Amino acid sequence: MARDERGVTAQSEDFAAWYNEVVFKAGLVDRGPAKGTMVIRPYGYRLWELLQSEIDGRIKATGHENAYFPLLIPESYLSREAEHVEGFSPELAVVTHAGGKELEEALVVRPTSETIIGEMMAKWISSHRDLPLLLNQWANVVRWELRPRMFLRTTEFLWQEGHTAHIDEGDARRETMLALDLYHEVARDLAAMPVVAGEKTPGERFAGAVATFTIEAMMRDGRALQSGTSHYMGTNFATAFDIRFTGESGREELCHTTSWGMSTRMIGGIVMTHGDDKGLVFPPRLAPHQVVIVPITRGGSAAVEEAAQQLAQRLRAAGVRTHVDARPQLTPGFKYNDWEMRGVPIRLELGPRDLEAGTAMMVKRLGDEGKQAVAIDSLPTVLPGILDEFQEYLLARATKFRDEHTRVVDTWDEFAAAVSTGWALALHCGTPACEDDIKAVTAATPRCIPLEGDPTAGACVRCGAASAYGKRVIFGRAY
Ligand SMILES: [Zn+2]
Repeated sequence: MARDERGVTAQSEDFAAWYNEVVFKAGLVDRGPAKGTMVIRPYGYRLWELLQSEIDGRIKATGHENAYFPLLIPESYLSREAEHVEGFSPELAVVTHAGGKELEEALVVRPTSETIIGEMMAKWISSHRDLPLLLNQWANVVRWELRPRMFLRTTEFLWQEGHTAHIDEGDARRETMLALDLYHEVARDLAAMPVVAGEKTPGERFAGAVATFTIEAMMRDGRALQSGTSHYMGTNFATAFDIRFTGESGREELCHTTSWGMSTRMIGGIVMTHGDDKGLVFPPRLAPHQVVIVPITRGGSAAVEEAAQQLAQRLRAAGVRTHVDARPQLTPGFKYNDWEMRGVPIRLELGPRDLEAGTAMMVKRLGDEGKQAVAIDSLPTVLPGILDEFQEYLLARATKFRDEHTRVVDTWDEFAAAVSTGWALALHCGTPACEDDIKAVTAATPRCIPLEGDPTAGACVRCGAASAYGKRVIFGRAY
């Protein structure tokens, strides 16, 4: 009913079906032939490139350098850190044969690169003068997925992984928070995702980390999406890979290391934070096309086509990513629906009568202003500001949604009701058995202990034991 040729199942009817349809129909992604793999199509990849270049600039501005490490890692490397191998074993893809022969030692396709980078750090660091060592890698990683979902959980995905080595705990922990702040800023200012920054409970930590920090976003179905993580490893990996330095005193000491990552999962996060019944809504700062011009040329009007191309040139010169939809075989109405579904923030319609009046009809992807006639000559000046306003509107709307779906709860009934539609802020005893019990009954897990939470004491919302963290924990169902 809520579906037509270019339409999608209404988000409000079936969120999961909506997501699965919209990412394919909008041309973001296609299925790869191997189970759980995805092809990122140009429209999706452009979004990734925009996000990537913004993250990369921030990583470099904070003193990190990019490098590249091999995809294949000797299997024995993973076993050197006991928790790490235990955590990743179920997801590993392992190469046992190559060159027509069985390999003497199997090779793991990297699920993450702490081990191989740790091995190299041990080689490159000898003195305190070599520290801090601040590295980042842009790469693909493979984690075998039994229940894949495009962008959210795929067997292969793209990401950046920062890996750093430091002289002491204080310096490494500062780095961990610097990366977390960077992700917080990227999510908020570019993706318009009002994330909550916090620490993971011990049961949700990265395998091998002393502390894991996360930014958690709320999707429009009330579920949480872990959108970036930053880990303080203590000396766990330094011990496993012998990453040592000679201090000023001449004594040999272990480095403290960190790692942190943000991935193509963010694309799924953007889709599920802003999309609606009509399809995608892209935040202007990451939209592949910020503006699409649809020339209305019934009977074919070269003048209109030309005016559309000229306007596009002027907008591009003003820094606006502009696309002209000149597909001759399609009606303007089809194009309007198509670009609405594909999430373009602003559409400009340009027909012969508009051209005579020196105006174009502007339609925003969201809002109730309808069509507005805007003077063509003013567009290069006014559109950047209109796009900024649209960006702010999306952040405000998502923040309001999150706040309306987050409840401070003290009883189990309130807790169960809150996590059925969003997040619960509750006290918890911190025991894994109690976390498991909550998950079994409600499917909710502890998302994070918010950094900005107020100190609160009391009893665990589930078992009544004393709360472990001195503040409330966010619980929610998660992707
Ligand atoms: Zn408990």
